[in-house]
Amino acid sequence: MSDTDRPTLTKAAEMDVHYCEQEGCEDWGSWGNFLSPSAATRWWCFEHFPHKTDAQEQALRRKLNVASAGDIL
Ligand SMILES: [Zn+2]
Repeated sequence: MSDTDRPTLTKAAEMDVHYCEQEGCEDWGSWGNFLSPSAATRWWCFEHFPHKTDAQEQALRRKLNVASAGDIL
């Protein structure tokens, strides 16, 4: 088996494009959540992802605190 045995790529690979569904947010929705296999997956950025664990929430708060402290300085 060799890489040269593969058929020529004739069309671009398909990508799922999913941005954060929070209104007004234009960040990439890298955090998905689906309730059932038949329901469409919903996507959010990390900041707006509503199903964070306590540890993830604390990490976000630390990150936001650092960012706002940077604005003051
Ligand atoms: Zn967002």
